[in-house]
Amino acid sequence: MYTHTNSKKLQIDAEEVILGGVNSPSRSYKAVGGGAPVVMERAEGPYFYDVDGNKYIDYLAAYGPIITGHAHPRIHEAITEQSSKGILYGTSTQLEIDFARKLQKAVPSLERVRFVNSGTEAVMTTIRVARAYTGRNKVIKFEGCYHGHSDLVLVAAGSGPSQLGTPDSAGVPESVAQDVITVPFNNLEDFKEAINHFGDEIAAVLVEPIVGNFGIVEAEDGFLQAVNDIAHDNGSLVIYDEVITAFRFGYGSATDIVGVTPDLTAMGKIIGGGTPIGAYGGRLDIMESVAPLGAAYQAGTMAGNPLSMAAGIACLEVLEKPGVYEELDRLGAKLEDGLNALIEKYNVTAKINRLVGALTIYFTDETVTNYTQAEASDGEVFAKFFRGLISRGINIAPSKYEAWFLTTEHTEKDIDDTLAIVEDVFKNDL
Ligand code: PMP
Repeated sequence: MYTHTNSKKLQIDAEEVILGGVNSPSRSYKAVGGGAPVVMERAEGPYFYDVDGNKYIDYLAAYGPIITGHAHPRIHEAITEQSSKGILYGTSTQLEIDFARKLQKAVPSLERVRFVNSGTEAVMTTIRVARAYTGRNKVIKFEGCYHGHSDLVLVAAGSGPSQLGTPDSAGVPESVAQDVITVPFNNLEDFKEAINHFGDEIAAVLVEPIVGNFGIVEAEDGFLQAVNDIAHDNGSLVIYDEVITAFRFGYGSATDIVGVTPDLTAMGKIIGGGTPIGAYGGRLDIMESVAPLGAAYQAGTMAGNPLSMAAGIACLEVLEKPGVYEELDRLGAKLEDGLNALIEKYNVTAKINRLVGALTIYFTDETVTNYTQAEASDGEVFAKFFRGLISRGINIAPSKYEAWFLTTEHTEKDIDDTLAIVEDVFKNDL
């Protein structure tokens, strides 16, 4: 069993200077009973090495971006080459055009695109653009989906689909929450009720086309098409938050999988190859609302910075090679099958949702299709599972709502080693 002496010491140091010792709350172990998070020192391929010299197979993949594994040589080369030519120009570059063309080729609905610096910024801006274009203010979103930390999306559901939201964070004004309606995912009746109730006040419907934030959850047949049709009949735009899904399940966006095209799309994570990035884009006539052509303002000192552009291009070059997603799917299936066999062997109450190289284990007996079901999964069992894994060499996110992400660098042996560790945890720790 691993010891984490140096991590514990560093957490004490961290708390003296960094609020809570972490720069993002999901990195704390609060959701799994607290304690010092493991501090990583180095990462390569599918592996992490911590400050105590322990090695881990990594399925966190930095909450998604690291689909080509850590320190991928092609991305490393692109970043170092660009950094020798200057990190930040604050001017236009050829790289921005090359990357935008590459994205547009893979995601044709991006008739025009803008680069920003995070998924939060990308989503926040699509909402502003939709409001500018429609002249309406309200937004419908789905329960349990995370869309970054801008005010408008940190809003919890009201008591029903015809109720306005309430702030989900201190510091978010009631007045902002009043512009957001949150309805359950995969529940068309509630969605229709919200649309009927708020009608021409609705600027946009914000959707994760394949949910990544209460585990991996796919829309039921016909749900996304119906959402698109009903929103459009109502004069509202549809925004896909593809911060997790873009280039996750195939080379391109989730629209290739779900067969429905939104008006605007927000992206992030994978497209930056591990560097800070966001992007948004969509229909030309809508994007023309954005400055300098239109009256909706969005800007950024770091937007389209050369390092992120170079890393993003390199990452997509790795991903566009034939067979990449087939291999992720094959290893994903091996992991899922192996986990299911262990769940059966040790009589563990658990269900797995998987799509290609991303999966979630929910400690529940009910298949998860919405947030209420994900919430009902057993957090205490998950916490034991997480601690069992981290003390034996597997790193996953410290939350029952997150996914495991495979990378192009995981091997058959990594999956076999993972299953052996999971077996040990199921046998001894749960
Ligand atoms: N949208 C989705 C679907 C996300 O999963 C996330 C981050 N987990 C965001 C937006 C916010 O992205 P960022 O953390 O880059 O601001």
